[in-house]
Amino acid sequence: MQNVLFQRQQKPRRQKKYQDYKPYLRKDFQYRCAYCLIHEAHYGGLRNFHVDHFRPKSKGRFRRLALTYANLYYACGLCNTFKGDHWPSSKQLKSGFRFVDPCQEDPYGTHFEVVEEDGSLRILTDAGRYTVVHLRLDRNQLRRHRRREIEQKQKCQVARDLLGTPGLPPQLVVETQRLVEEIEQSWLNPVPPYELEDLRT
Ligand SMILES: [Zn+2]
Repeated sequence: MQNVLFQRQQKPRRQKKYQDYKPYLRKDFQYRCAYCLIHEAHYGGLRNFHVDHFRPKSKGRFRRLALTYANLYYACGLCNTFKGDHWPSSKQLKSGFRFVDPCQEDPYGTHFEVVEEDGSLRILTDAGRYTVVHLRLDRNQLRRHRRREIEQKQKCQVARDLLGTPGLPPQLVVETQRLVEEIEQSWLNPVPPYELEDLRT
């Protein structure tokens, strides 16, 4: 089986409105945008995330998928807006241009990859090009965000290397290790900044 970026676990029953799937989607997409991977914690929480129709509901042949859970993706407001109603024509599809589906494969490293030096994206395939161009995944906001993430990871690595210095007081090692882990967690697996019920109070 191919390496997929997101694997759905939730099995919601049929909802009346596609927006009602949002609580399930955010769990299945690990609180991240399906496309740019930004986390709720780094993008203002769930209010700034949308329910995206991977196959656009505006296209006649996909209208029947408007409430189909497998066609719904969790996306940040920017990616969802840029994606809009775009969908490749049959001619483009034949030439290999398409949106890379993060529930079917892992686009990162296969169709495009992050350039460590500046956080930009290097395009590797035609599907990657179509996806990056239409979602504007190489936008400055994301370049900066990816660069910050890389810097944080590098700093953590430096700290870990320093902790290997012989003769350090054990308490300092333990305390510093805890801090480094906290920083790593805040990037790898952050906590959503608020929940739906927090908006009701
Ligand atoms: Zn996004």
